[in-house]
Amino acid sequence: MLTIDTHTISERSRKVGMTVTSWLTCGLISVMLMCVLATFLYIDRQQSDVAQVRLQTHAMMRMQHSIAWTHLAVLELVLQHSDQTDFGAYSRALNVLNTQSSDALPKMTWRGTATVPTSEVLETLKSHWAEIIAALNVGQPDRARAVYLTRDVSGIASNLLKTMTIDIDRYKEVIGDTQLRIQNATTLALILQILSGIFCICAFAATARTGARDAKARDIAVCAANASREQVTQLFEMTEMLQSATERSDANVVLRSAASELMPDFGGALYVFNNSRDRLTLSTTWNQAGEDLPDSIGLQQCWAMKRGKPHINRADGKKLSCEHHTGNLDVLEIPMIARGEILGLLQIFASGENAVERLQQQMGLGSALADAMSLALANISLRDKLRSQALRDPLTGLYNRRYMEDALERTVRMTDREKQEVSVIMIDLDHFKRLNDQHGHAKGDSVLRDTAAVIMSQLRDTDIACRYGGEELIVVMPNCDLDAAAQKAESLRAAIEALSEPNGAKVSASLGVAAIPSTSHAVRDMVASADAALYRAKQDGRNRVALASRRDEPATELPENVTRLEAAE
Ligand code: GH3
Ligand code: MG
Ligand code: MG
Repeated sequence: MLTIDTHTISERSRKVGMTVTSWLTCGLISVMLMCVLATFLYIDRQQSDVAQVRLQTHAMMRMQHSIAWTHLAVLELVLQHSDQTDFGAYSRALNVLNTQSSDALPKMTWRGTATVPTSEVLETLKSHWAEIIAALNVGQPDRARAVYLTRDVSGIASNLLKTMTIDIDRYKEVIGDTQLRIQNATTLALILQILSGIFCICAFAATARTGARDAKARDIAVCAANASREQVTQLFEMTEMLQSATERSDANVVLRSAASELMPDFGGALYVFNNSRDRLTLSTTWNQAGEDLPDSIGLQQCWAMKRGKPHINRADGKKLSCEHHTGNLDVLEIPMIARGEILGLLQIFASGENAVERLQQQMGLGSALADAMSLALANISLRDKLRSQALRDPLTGLYNRRYMEDALERTVRMTDREKQEVSVIMIDLDHFKRLNDQHGHAKGDSVLRDTAAVIMSQLRDTDIACRYGGEELIVVMPNCDLDAAAQKAESLRAAIEALSEPNGAKVSASLGVAAIPSTSHAVRDMVASADAALYRAKQDGRNRVALASRRDEPATELPENVTRLEAAE
């Protein structure tokens, strides 16, 4: 079943599209996650920088306080007028100042901000303080005041403190900026996280939907595969049944049943060739194929037969339609071909929506049905031919002697059971040797054929005509008494004699008639009696009918050409 499917192609492109989308989704989610990660790293770095700046700011503030306290202690000592000088406050403040590392101050830099007060300035200030304290210590307050003023200790201290304040303010500004950046980065990270989350949910939903769609497609594919397997099994069964069909009618029954099962929504009809193979005659129909089907179709009326290919006739008459197509259904027509010979036509009918598309989908199955059926018909026809060859004489088409003997036995048994009479007429052409000699063997054959045809044309369906041998023929007539057989024999004689004119030669025959039970007991007697009667007819001048004598009745008056023979017994 050929189905190159657009379905497969679209499925493949859908999958390719899906793969691209999946990769894009994964890529996008990865980029977002990396951005979130980078933002976190950035925030972390900013926070550690802020912490460091804060530490340094505190250190600087502590140092600023220490410098201020020490300077205040020095100023107090310079300004006091008592003889008793207390250096305790100065010593404590200086000790605190000395415990603080001045390394952090001058070396610290932050993104291009100014340097902190240099250690040299502080050392200078400390040496001025030490000079003042030393003067006070030796009781020279005036010198201490002079040092204070001349060295501008107060100016140096206040400049130092001011510079430190400026830098502290700068650090605070830096901390503020960095915290703002951290806040912005946190917001950005949050937005990215939310976006990633939304995107993940969308991707998950899309994947779930795609998965559901794929599962549905898989289910459909599995159902289709199961249906197809079922169809194959049914086709096998049908083929097997068809093998055992010996008659066309048997094959038709199998086809009807298989087609109804395999294509329950479609009607169908089968046309097969008539004997002369010039027309297709309706053989069978199924599933209400349509009432107005023609009984026969001419070969020239059908596109499927002319092209040897399936053809669809549309109900609307659009596109090319066969001449025989008259109904209101869409019809798929498939020529049935076996062993290179066209044997008939399979029709599948559909109506309603998308009928043509549905018929196109049935093309594979219909072709398989047509193939199986045509093979069966070819086999039946071959079997008929072989049987006919075994039973019939090829020249005249009459049954041969062997068949006649069997048939005669059968007929006699049957008529005996029914208490009916059976007659035989034995026919021998007169002077046939002479006809052959004078007109040739071909003419002799032709006369034999004509004689057989004339005999056949005058017999009933139940009568059996055979070629007994050479130019001798025999007719078996069941349910026919001697008198009726005698009349039939006379009519055959006249018909054979009438062949003279068309053949341009003298044609006649002598006939012997016998019957069971009138003249004979059994088959052998009857044939012998008919033969004897025939011999008598020859003796009496040919071209006449002779009857075997009845066993129990005296001879009756007979027509001019009919002679009665004494009973053989
Ligand atoms: P009679 O009237 O006594 O029957 O004479 P006859 O010539 O018919 O009889 P005979 O038995 O002498 O000859 C029969 C002839 O029939 C001999 C044979 O050549 C001829 N014949 C037998 N079979 C055929 C056949 O198939 N075709 C032809 N053309 N001739 C045949
Ligand atoms: Mg003969
Ligand atoms: Mg003869």
